[in-house]
Amino acid sequence: MTRQVRCECGYTARGDTDDAVISLILAHITTDHPDLVGVETAEDIRTWIELLPD
Ligand SMILES: [Zn+2]
Repeated sequence: MTRQVRCECGYTARGDTDDAVISLILAHITTDHPDLVGVETAEDIRTWIELLPD
């Protein structure tokens, strides 16, 4: 199943594994929400993951 995480800004990351989508969101936070770096952790992001039926 595809994993999806939607950022509050409207950015959507998708990946085939939890770690893939978490990495995308962490990269997005670094570039677009630098004030949240170190605030939103991988474990926080893991709770935001939605599963999309393939
Ligand atoms: Zn965002």
